[in-house]
Amino acid sequence: MFDYLIVGAGFAGSVLAERLSSQLDASILLVDKRNHVGGNAYDCYNEAGILVHRYGPHIFHTNSERVFEYLSRFTAWRPYEHRVLASVDGQLVSMPINANTLNKLYGLNLSCRQVDEFLAELAEPCEIRSSRDVVVNRVGQELYEKFFRNYTRKQWGIDPSELDASVTARVPVRTSRDDRYFTDRFQAMPLHGYTRMFDRMLAHPNIRILLNTDYRDIVDEVECREVIFTGPVDEYFDYCYGRLPYRSLHFEHQTHDRQLYQSAAVINYPNEHAYTRVTEFKYLTGQEHPKTSIVFEYPRSEGDPYYPIPKAENAQLYARYKELADTLDDVHFTGRLGTYKYYNMDQVVAQSLSLFEKLKAKRARSLPSRPVVVLSSELDAVRPPSSMREEPDEAA
Ligand code: FAD
Ligand code: UDP
Repeated sequence: MFDYLIVGAGFAGSVLAERLSSQLDASILLVDKRNHVGGNAYDCYNEAGILVHRYGPHIFHTNSERVFEYLSRFTAWRPYEHRVLASVDGQLVSMPINANTLNKLYGLNLSCRQVDEFLAELAEPCEIRSSRDVVVNRVGQELYEKFFRNYTRKQWGIDPSELDASVTARVPVRTSRDDRYFTDRFQAMPLHGYTRMFDRMLAHPNIRILLNTDYRDIVDEVECREVIFTGPVDEYFDYCYGRLPYRSLHFEHQTHDRQLYQSAAVINYPNEHAYTRVTEFKYLTGQEHPKTSIVFEYPRSEGDPYYPIPKAENAQLYARYKELADTLDDVHFTGRLGTYKYYNMDQVVAQSLSLFEKLKAKRARSLPSRPVVVLSSELDAVRPPSSMREEPDEAA
């Protein structure tokens, strides 16, 4: 009998396996249908010996000291600030849009204050209801079309006007020359990669890992007290209310016989090609190697569920599954797929750490209170001196 069956060995499942085993001494069966741990953050050395991210570029960034400190127990870090270029009008310009982007794109030499004025002129103030509105409101139609409209259509298969505002709001617009993709307090890559970090998280003797296994194939044979499910929540309930839509990707990995392939870690292609972006891993990992490996991302509607699609009707459907999930006392849902949230890695770690606190409190409530065993030497230390003691009546 296991205390917990955990489905999915990505960040969501691995954080819980680590916490429950190391803090509560719980026994864990961790199941994943893939042939590795790490979920979508999995990385490995390819045939050429280059460290690559099988499921696309994963850049760690967070403002949460708690999350950063927690992960730092399992990895050292390589400081890394991510920078992205976008191919627009035949030029490679900095993305997110910032002063450098506009100066290069329009052949200008604006100061940051002038950029502020320039954007204020272009902005088309509107009520913000969609991913289109967020951008047009800030930079106007022209820059929206150059940088956002087609990329978003490609990535999500729908027009930005049909997507929640939160999607394009992930990418800021700056009037400064700050050309970093993220501005979080902590930005770094695991020094020896994500998979090494996961291996260290999962090294506890109470954790048994079963790979290449769909939990449905074993669930009837495994005895466990509680289940933690980090796969797609609609799948858990046999799609009883219908399928939650996810966006998938096809990854085309290539290795080239030269030191570097492109001039930045990631180049976005909003308006050309069927792929959205090309990532060159050596920029992320700092690895030195005579060859270089890259990955192209081709969005798809079919395939592994990589992205929940933030849209009102999908949120409503998820709410119905969540209501159902809340009726189950001994099954807990977490992670990007388990809670249908477009979460970054740090948000998933934070979510699972919070679930751990709930499970810890639940366990404390359910455990029978144990008799306290006190050594007589310890008792002496707290006992009043014999002169103050009432000695039991020998006759009693
Ligand atoms: P997952 O990593 O998806 O893990 C879920 C696991 O459950 C999977 O391994 C799956 O095989 C397993 N599973 C599902 N169903 C079953 C079943 N029935 N039986 C057994 N196992 C099952 N975040 C960032 O912070 N920075 C980035 O740069 C970044 N880049 C990204 C790029 C791409 C292309 C993608 C897709 C995501 C990116 N993310 C990034 C998000 C990041 O991948 C997620 O936040 C994180 O990996 C989610 O972890 P998770 O454990 O919730 O889910
Ligand atoms: N986006 C865009 N053009 C870009 C970069 C991003 O239109 O050059 C939009 C697109 O809709 C994308 C969203 O902003 O899905 C969020 O971008 P992010 O880089 O955060 O996406 P992720 O890394 O999660 O795929």
